[in-house]
Amino acid sequence: MADRLQKVMAQAGVASRRKSEELIATGHVTVNGQVMTELGYKVQPKDKIEVDGMPVQQAEKLVYYLLYKPRGFVSTAKDEKGRRTVVDLLTDVNERVYPVGRLDFDTTGALIMTNDGDLMNYLTHPKYEVDKVYTAKVEGIPTNDELMQLRHGIKLEGKMTKPARTKILNTKTNENKKTTSLVQITIHEGRNHQVKKMFKHIGHEVVGLRRESYGFLDLHGLQPGDYRELRFEEVEALK
Ligand code: URA
Repeated sequence: MADRLQKVMAQAGVASRRKSEELIATGHVTVNGQVMTELGYKVQPKDKIEVDGMPVQQAEKLVYYLLYKPRGFVSTAKDEKGRRTVVDLLTDVNERVYPVGRLDFDTTGALIMTNDGDLMNYLTHPKYEVDKVYTAKVEGIPTNDELMQLRHGIKLEGKMTKPARTKILNTKTNENKKTTSLVQITIHEGRNHQVKKMFKHIGHEVVGLRRESYGFLDLHGLQPGDYRELRFEEVEALK
């Protein structure tokens, strides 16, 4: 929602809201080069505001979205290979948002996007342990012993993974006699390609991966490529 001119000026540190109203009413303020004396004017993100010719830097509004990332997008703001990024999917968002953590190019599922750097740092800190539930389609059928290893933790790049929860959801054999299983796995870390590496470690290649939920945020009501703004209580509950 757009903020009023006097609020934007106060947030930018120009003056108090009262004093900003006075400055507007007395013709000191221009918006896109035009004197603006209307106190109710709603500032648009691209508006150029000046007070007595001095530019006012708009404090960016903090925004929070949950995206159902489709496959075929990178989770960076820019890609050196020119591939499409998750940022391109948020077509009606004016703020410059970034993904919280990463999902691989071919991974789908729940991804938070925000311009709140503090929250981003907080959520991606190793100490922040929120459950992340994935459905992994893996080659073959993992045995109970193999899954036990993931439940206890395995050594990846010299460091143990934290205990994971796993559950086989179903197994299927296709016409070429290839068997795959859908396994639900819950982890709380966010190491690079972690789920794929964990299954590889126990001898089962991941051929499809979807993040079903990030903490209490799940994909309910969203299709791949859809996104929704987080509600105030949801943002508060993440902190
Ligand atoms: N683990 C992976 O291997 N890939 C992802 O995209 C997310 C978790």
